[in-house]
Amino acid sequence: MGNREQGMGNGKNSFLPLPTLHSLKIDLQAIPLNELIEIARLAREHARAPYSNFKVGAAVQCADGRVFTGCNIENSSYGSTLCAELVALAKAVSEGARDFVRVAVIADTISPIPPCGNCRQVIFELCGREAEVVMANLHSQFEIRKAGDLLPAPFDQSFF
Ligand SMILES: [Zn+2]
Repeated sequence: MGNREQGMGNGKNSFLPLPTLHSLKIDLQAIPLNELIEIARLAREHARAPYSNFKVGAAVQCADGRVFTGCNIENSSYGSTLCAELVALAKAVSEGARDFVRVAVIADTISPIPPCGNCRQVIFELCGREAEVVMANLHSQFEIRKAGDLLPAPFDQSFF
């Protein structure tokens, strides 16, 4: 909200020109893997991490070509902190997106960062076991695993 206005203009702010990315219609073929990782890297710049200073970015690629971004948002009540992947998926679902093919997550880590357990559960449920999870770091390293491989014994709707 309002980021578009803040992202343009006089250059006195620190916003990157990201906010319109979430609504772009892009041909899937036009988004190579490294570009999705780059989008996640840029989203990471918006992270709110005053307590841990551990910034994380994420980008969710939809089957229709849309890309939604997220960053971690920490809170002084730590349990209220939001992971980057969940922010990206919440933005996507709230915009009507349902069919996801790929989730990229990136942080300044020695090896590519994996999603936490809670995010694995949510990615599995919303994206499906075949969705690609792209784990990356700032050193141009990445690893791709299927959501089902990251959550081999899921609790899912089959138990209802
Ligand atoms: Zn998480």
